[in-house]
Amino acid sequence: MKVMIIDDDLLLSDTLKDIIATRGNQVKTFSSAELAIEEYQKVFYSLVLIDIGLPGMDGLECCRRIRDFPKGKYSVLIIFTGLTHIESLRESLEAGADDYLKKPFDLDLLKIRLEIAEKQGLDRLERMLADEELKRARLMAESASLAKNTFLASVSHELRTPLNGILGYTQILKRDGNMLPKQLHAIETIHECGEHLLTMINDVLDFSSIESQKFFIFPKVFNFSLLLKSMISIFRMKSQQKELPFYAELDENLPEKVVGDEKRLRQILLNLLSNAMKYTINGHVIFRVKNINGNIHFEIEDTGIGISEENLEKIFLPFHQVPDERIQREGTGLGLSISRTIIRMMGSDISVKTRPTHGTLFKFTLELPEADDDEMIHEKICDTTITGYQGPVKKILIAEDIDQNRSFIRDIIEHIGFAVKEAINGMEAVRKAYSFIPDLILMDLLMPVMGGIEATRKIRSIPTLKHTKIIAVSANISHKTQQKCFRAGCDDYITKPVQVNELLELIQENLNISWINDTADSDHFEKYSAIEHTESKPIIFPPPEEIKTINTLVLCGKTTRLKKHIRKIEENFPQCDAFTDKVRRLLDDFRLEDIQHFIHQTKENNTNDVR
Ligand code: ADP
Repeated sequence: MKVMIIDDDLLLSDTLKDIIATRGNQVKTFSSAELAIEEYQKVFYSLVLIDIGLPGMDGLECCRRIRDFPKGKYSVLIIFTGLTHIESLRESLEAGADDYLKKPFDLDLLKIRLEIAEKQGLDRLERMLADEELKRARLMAESASLAKNTFLASVSHELRTPLNGILGYTQILKRDGNMLPKQLHAIETIHECGEHLLTMINDVLDFSSIESQKFFIFPKVFNFSLLLKSMISIFRMKSQQKELPFYAELDENLPEKVVGDEKRLRQILLNLLSNAMKYTINGHVIFRVKNINGNIHFEIEDTGIGISEENLEKIFLPFHQVPDERIQREGTGLGLSISRTIIRMMGSDISVKTRPTHGTLFKFTLELPEADDDEMIHEKICDTTITGYQGPVKKILIAEDIDQNRSFIRDIIEHIGFAVKEAINGMEAVRKAYSFIPDLILMDLLMPVMGGIEATRKIRSIPTLKHTKIIAVSANISHKTQQKCFRAGCDDYITKPVQVNELLELIQENLNISWINDTADSDHFEKYSAIEHTESKPIIFPPPEEIKTINTLVLCGKTTRLKKHIRKIEENFPQCDAFTDKVRRLLDDFRLEDIQHFIHQTKENNTNDVR
């Protein structure tokens, strides 16, 4: 054991040194506290004997300093003092000493005290080594867990990117009214499988965020009644597919708009309701929502396989699944663990009542304060029937390096009547934004040459683009990245895979526009069909490049040039007279939007063009 003696009385130091060294210890003597502390910083000593009355720094201060070192708590500190009054002893102990020895030493007593101190010193040395080992193991586990989470996050990101393309195009195809039922069924199956895969990837991502304490709740005003409606409609559909009755019992006095984290509440309800459906073979599933003194109480009840007593706590553990041959095993076993974490983060807890073979009831209550009526809230877009919007044409720039993602977004927004340009990296986005002056930019964050955050910063420094809205798009927007986006000048963000409804909602919010939906649109086209009917002449369309030019001129509001161009088409393609007549008539009334709709109609029927 290493022992340090600090005393300016060299004779006494040497005597003590001899006594302690003969007991098999390594002993060093120091004549001042300063020298001793310098040494202690470098080498750990198990036993330190300090004289109280040292020149310079006194023994009490020396004792305090040693205790302040990270390993100081593992040393046994003993103060020598000539003063025996109680106050001086108290001071010694307060300074961190374990014991004191009275000078002049009684040799027998000294030996006994040293023996005890040695034992204490050895115990502490053992504890120190064990603590160090524990710390090393913890550090290693932490770095392994960090590596695991980084790996999970990057793999999930890689998996989500191709899913973007798959889910994006199934959404577009589902909107296509010309599908045969068999094709539609195939597309719906692809979409469902993709959604399922996405839920699992999201669960893994959420789990790794929870593990690394990067999981957050973002409350804001949202339309609660629409959320409930969408849940009910999803599970009505599932219940029909599974032929398992699903009942929704909602209190009449539920608030319409509330403050809460809509995305996370949706996630919890989806998980609990999907489980209820999944683990029920006969009987029914009931979804209850009640308003209890302003708090919202949720119940999800099923008559399914139930959960045994011994598995009740375990089902909330990550990856825990109860094997059951009656149920086709699917899922990650993360859903309940994540749901409970979210509910706890929202300041509540989830409870479960269950009886094997009889069913299960999950319950939780959340504080979801009702939002004031005048609080800003945009209506959710519940269907995908939007075909246009009111007002002048708006311009959108899509900055995204992956072809499929770009063309998927382009297909959606172009169909609705936005003027679209594309950029394949941040640098090009800045250049195109400068010349195109878009109303909105969809900015991917991870792009080659220049990333989205830097591009946003550059765009924000261009005065002509100060009204341009920028929406960040990324597969993995953590809280930190969101902050970075906002600091750089983004107005909003959306996660990949981009959901059509969510994208349209954000565009609506940021551009402050009102949609034209299918019904309005069909009226619109009925108007045209009526004209078509009276005219009784088939419309032959000019070649696509001519239509494209018309579209561009309409977008830029160049009516004089458009008139000239129509004249040119009349000359070159006289057989298209019904087409040019109609465009001219609309142009005379300055109905540019209607020209656009008409051209879109032609695009969809372009088998009938002049060639
Ligand atoms: P997953 O459903 O993906 O397996 P969860 O975390 O959502 O994961 O659920 C964990 C386990 O809890 C399930 O595997 C199942 O054994 C059990 N469980 C959850 N909900 C129910 C339910 N409504 N009825 C019976 N068992 C359930």
